[in-house]
Amino acid sequence: MSTAFATPTDTTPSKGASAGSPGNGGSTTPRRTAVASVINRISSPQTIDFVDVPAQDYYSTNVFTKSVMKDRLPKTVFKSLIRTIDAGEKLDPEIADIVASAIKDWAMEKGATHYAHVFYPLTGATAEKHDSFLSPTSDGGTLSEFSGKQLCQGEPDGSSFPSGGIRVTSQARGYTIWDVTSPAYILENPNGTTLCIPTAFVSWTGEALDKKTPVLRSMQALNKQAQRILNIFGHEDGAFVASTAGPEQEYFLVDRNFYYARPDLLTAGRTLFGAKPPKGQEFDDHYFGAIPERVLAFMCEAERELFKLGIPVKTRHNEVAPGQFEVAPVFESANVAADHQQLMMLTLRKTAEKYGMACLMHEKPFAGVNGSGKHVNWSLGSSSQGNLLDPGDTPHENAQFLVFCAAVIRAVYKHQGLLRAVVASAGNDHRLGANEAPPAIISIFLGDQLTDVFEQIKAGGASSSLPSGTLEVGVDVLPPLPKDAGDRNRTSPFAFTGNRFEFRAVGSNQSISGPLVAMNTIIAESIDYCATKIEESIASNPDGLNAAIQSLLSEIITECSAVIFNGDGYSEEWHKEAEKRGLLNLKTTADALPQLATPETIEMFSNYGVLSERELESRLETYQEQYCMTVGVEASVALSLARTMIFPAAIRYQNELASTCANLKAVGYEFDTDTLDSMTALVKSLQDGIATLEHAINDVSATTPDEECRHCCDAILPSMLALRETVDKLEEVVADDIWPLPTYQEMLFIK
Ligand code: ADP
Ligand code: MG
Repeated sequence: MSTAFATPTDTTPSKGASAGSPGNGGSTTPRRTAVASVINRISSPQTIDFVDVPAQDYYSTNVFTKSVMKDRLPKTVFKSLIRTIDAGEKLDPEIADIVASAIKDWAMEKGATHYAHVFYPLTGATAEKHDSFLSPTSDGGTLSEFSGKQLCQGEPDGSSFPSGGIRVTSQARGYTIWDVTSPAYILENPNGTTLCIPTAFVSWTGEALDKKTPVLRSMQALNKQAQRILNIFGHEDGAFVASTAGPEQEYFLVDRNFYYARPDLLTAGRTLFGAKPPKGQEFDDHYFGAIPERVLAFMCEAERELFKLGIPVKTRHNEVAPGQFEVAPVFESANVAADHQQLMMLTLRKTAEKYGMACLMHEKPFAGVNGSGKHVNWSLGSSSQGNLLDPGDTPHENAQFLVFCAAVIRAVYKHQGLLRAVVASAGNDHRLGANEAPPAIISIFLGDQLTDVFEQIKAGGASSSLPSGTLEVGVDVLPPLPKDAGDRNRTSPFAFTGNRFEFRAVGSNQSISGPLVAMNTIIAESIDYCATKIEESIASNPDGLNAAIQSLLSEIITECSAVIFNGDGYSEEWHKEAEKRGLLNLKTTADALPQLATPETIEMFSNYGVLSERELESRLETYQEQYCMTVGVEASVALSLARTMIFPAAIRYQNELASTCANLKAVGYEFDTDTLDSMTALVKSLQDGIATLEHAINDVSATTPDEECRHCCDAILPSMLALRETVDKLEEVVADDIWPLPTYQEMLFIK
């Protein structure tokens, strides 16, 4: 890579970044070095031959796809596998050896020397353990081996993964188990390739220690309940009803020189200090703007890698904030989408490095600038019935759609707290409930057409659907467009967007598994409720299907309509109105996480076999611990930055002002001490802020996880914020050549 990445000793001076000044003893600041390196960056040469090898030729080349399976496996084995993958049937353990041998041959042809069971621990990250295919033989040679057992089961020594008390170190046994429904793939590295096998990760007692196991269980539960509604409507083919997910990933890119000059970005993933830039996103000139060349080159390469992995990336664009971008794939079965999402985050991070940038997934890397989310588009459907949340042109006549849609409304209403809890994290707290999209209050946007249909149902029966019509633009040369039945509402955390729901409260850095598990399970419960009601009613009156549905829908909409809100979710009025409606407003992770283990939640998850009480409690404990750890790390970084970078810069400048004042006085001039006065006040406030934060960090009086979370939320974070206010004021006063941290202005306008 030819990018001029600055080493700490690189002091190349350049325009606007002259090194040294009397104020800082003639040395240069990390910031100035970073600026110089960015200015002197040599743009990267084109590396991809995109004409000779068109995208369609490398799509999925690194995936053990169904068609590869078909080519390489005996017909019976292939068919048996497909029944498990597509219809959710039990995996036949007898076929494992044959599949293992075929997959090994395929992988070795692609240069693989190792295989890895990939799993998804509760940290939200991706974990992998690599083993070689090669085993030594007695004659001093080597043999490549990969048995069915090695494919199906692994035993990573994962005792250091968080388990929330399920596994103590003395009982550390944990197994990874092959998930055949998520395709195996080859991960390339310039020096070799590895066969990656997606797996579930469980304890030796069978309890889930990961994010995948409950996704698979919840999909199974959802299918079972959805089949009952389909049966009621005469669809009895039993084709597996899978939940589908399409996650839109937002992220920031900053030049790596800045990234390494900001210990907070490097360690905490977000800037803990930084004054608002003179030019922010007010001009709206970045959103959907032309993509900068280096960024586009990065996107092309990242997408190429994702294509090879069979990840169907579709859209790319600039996002609202400067330096912010988005990528979204076409939706897939929820389990596969979740695995692909993890791979997508890895690929974006890795590729950004090649282009001299850092990809920031944090929900709020820059205060006062739009944060990043991960909108999770969710629906359910089967190969024979298609998308079950597709309303058609006349939703009022589409009873089956209305039942599924009402089930979602009821689920979200009943389990607002859980939905809030599954998106709770230290990072996401800076979006939800903090004056940004979306608010912490969970509500549903239905749009005009569906709201009207449900209003009619509530009033006794629906007889019409508002027409969608055509769009009048007033230009003859433009083609007429069909108008969407509903507008979009960017402020809603849970929006119906035409044929799916979009859960927008998910954080950009989070695994989508938690949200998927929650959606699948609460909706399975709601569908169960609906199916039971209708089944009971038609058992006594076989001709009364329509009446049964009308009565069910009307009951649901009456009971749950408080959760429907089509207006502006940011507004003050909505917060008041939501309170009147009795909706929860859980502003912070400390408030929201306990919702994971309320008696109703525990009962629901265990009823559907998704998570046991112990598993839920272990999750709660793990996430609470993560929250406290994150806040703890941020606090110590803030403290050390304030002490070792900001304070020295502040007193240097103060000293410069003071000596100027003294010198002038000595020769008989007056010196206006306004700046010196305010610098002196700020330095005092900085010292106080440091002391207060230190005090909060050292306070260990909290003993339970709940108390620890509260302490982080109510004492540590506010002290960090108070310290930040002073530092940000200092940034606006202290001489530019002394200020040590790259500014927002510098970091955000990436070229
Ligand atoms: P927007 O930014 O306008 O919301 P995008 O095109 O960025 O739209 O993303 C929409 C996402 O919704 C895509 O990932 C798309 O595949 C996904 N999606 C579409 N239909 C479904 C569905 N039936 N189930 C789940 N996701 C879906
Ligand atoms: Mg989008």
